[in-house]
Amino acid sequence: MRAALEVSKELDVAILTKVYPSRSHSGAAQGGIAASLANSEDDSWEEHMFDTCKGGDYLNDQDAVEEYVKSASRVIYELEHMGCVFSRDKDGKIAQRAFGGHSKPRACYSADRTGHAILHALHEQLLKNAKSIKIYNEWYMHSLIVEEGRCKGVVVSDIRTGEVEVMQAKAVIFCTGGYGRVFKITSNAFAGTADGVIAAYRAGIPLQDTEFVQFHPSGLWRQGILFSEAARGEGGTLLNSKGERFMEQYAPSRMELAPRDIVARAEQSEIDEGRGIDGKDYIHLDLTHLGEARIMERLPQIRQLGIDFIGVDCVNEKLPIQPTAHYSMGGIPTDMFGQVVIDDKGTPLTGFFAAGECACVSVHGANRLGTNSLLEAVVFGERSGRSALEFAREAELQPLNEKHQKTKTLNLFEEIYQRDGTESYNDIRNEMKEVMMSQCGVFRDEKRLKDCISKIKSLQTRYKKGKITDKGNLFNTELYEIIELGNMLKMGEIIATGALNRKESRGGHFRKDFPERDDTNFLKHSLLSEADDGEGIQINYKDVTITRYKPAKREY
Ligand SMILES: Cc1cc2nc3c(=O)[nH]c(=O)nc-3n(C[C@H](O)[C@H](O)[C@H](O)COP(=O)(O)OP(=O)(O)OC[C@H]3O[C@@H](n4cnc5c(N)ncnc54)[C@H](O)[C@@H]3O)c2cc1C
Repeated sequence: MRAALEVSKELDVAILTKVYPSRSHSGAAQGGIAASLANSEDDSWEEHMFDTCKGGDYLNDQDAVEEYVKSASRVIYELEHMGCVFSRDKDGKIAQRAFGGHSKPRACYSADRTGHAILHALHEQLLKNAKSIKIYNEWYMHSLIVEEGRCKGVVVSDIRTGEVEVMQAKAVIFCTGGYGRVFKITSNAFAGTADGVIAAYRAGIPLQDTEFVQFHPSGLWRQGILFSEAARGEGGTLLNSKGERFMEQYAPSRMELAPRDIVARAEQSEIDEGRGIDGKDYIHLDLTHLGEARIMERLPQIRQLGIDFIGVDCVNEKLPIQPTAHYSMGGIPTDMFGQVVIDDKGTPLTGFFAAGECACVSVHGANRLGTNSLLEAVVFGERSGRSALEFAREAELQPLNEKHQKTKTLNLFEEIYQRDGTESYNDIRNEMKEVMMSQCGVFRDEKRLKDCISKIKSLQTRYKKGKITDKGNLFNTELYEIIELGNMLKMGEIIATGALNRKESRGGHFRKDFPERDDTNFLKHSLLSEADDGEGIQINYKDVTITRYKPAKREY
């Protein structure tokens, strides 16, 4: 939406989304959006940049990080002027709280509904600019049209009617979000199924750093629903079955507010070593000492989530939590202007842009700090929008064979309708989630990853032998879920293949058989692309841009 606003300053733009715009996963973001406003303590963009690079285990491209953190304060004020209501301190300034890996309180927030506030402010702006912005709600993007080395549009369908259409465009911007739904325990909304990144991959664009998946430390046990890090930012503690604040062993200086990868591994280690609560696979998040008044002021949604989903009121009781797949650091490679690039030399794919979680700029490197992602979506939304506008201003619509493009998607529908197999898509989905979680999760090693890849491949074979029950056109959600499952099966294979290849531990990627970071061999981005046969995965590399902060040992 931020990208569309930028384009709409001069040109017409269509927004297409498979949900309603304000139901995008951004609306679930709770804790905050980072900026070095220095409203409660001295702060600077340099410190924000340093924390981001250290948090990302030095895989971040620092030229992009610098531009990004420098823009942060401006975009916060812009959002505010658009009508986004931020919580205030006693002097009436935008309040800022502590967050994992940030050395200063830098998270601007709207209680614990920050994403909701931002999303609605942006949506209002879209409606205000309705003359030049048309929104296609509940339309599904199937594929990206790339011919003669340039992007010409997308193939889409109207979920309501199943009608397939080609949307020609001078420029296309993907903001299709993450792919946490590949994993069993995830905080991500149902729409996070990798459609955008897989459409790019299928169009010949390599995917960057997809082995780096962030597991958030505080997912609701068994369900994965998020209890924001804001809970720890406000003083919440983590306890094992012995009642110990175990973070003392793992990150004595930052404790519960160490970066997420470190806290998630600490939790998983406690669970694996038998110190989960009641010997089970969860530990406790304790907020009881904060008191009802503070919880109601700062964390009302978290309280309600606990009450609604498990009947636990965090004012009086501890919340059961476990690591949950949360954020995709990797994605479609772009330069710092949001232009998609297709190789290690930064060759652009003309007419194609990407921003937000589906993109890999890479400002987060191997691990994203909390509150840095909403900032990414807004900053790079704006930047990609501006790049697309500058490009489209001079560009011509390209001729394309509409019938040919449509036929590919119609054939896919037909193939799914015709499959008369015995396999259940639900079983395949559940088994995929299970294996990704257990074999490609917080801790990885060669054996687990090889198991994972071979299991995913066998699921891909079984997928071709499934059977659909609804063959109608109207709101056929079963059809769309099957297509999404196909995307996720490919995504799972790509994540695990990248993880197997990266024989080191860095940020969110931890190999038990290679527990150290290896800058000599792996201080580089990975690029995974479709092999010529359309099945295999090819791996290349790209240099990391290091400007201000040389890689150092990461201790907290
Ligand atoms: C529970 C939760 C809490 C979070 N809290 C924070 C936080 O406090 N601070 C922070 O900085 N970050 C947070 N994050 C991360 C952050 O919210 C996301 O990374 C960010 O909002 C992603 O924004 P986006 O615009 O890239 O994608 P999204 O908001 O996920 O939007 C993706 C859009 O793409 C559309 N789409 C996808 N595929 C298709 C298709 N095939 N056809 C049509 N449309 C499609 C979807 O319908 C949707 O509209 C949180 C994430 C979660 C899950």
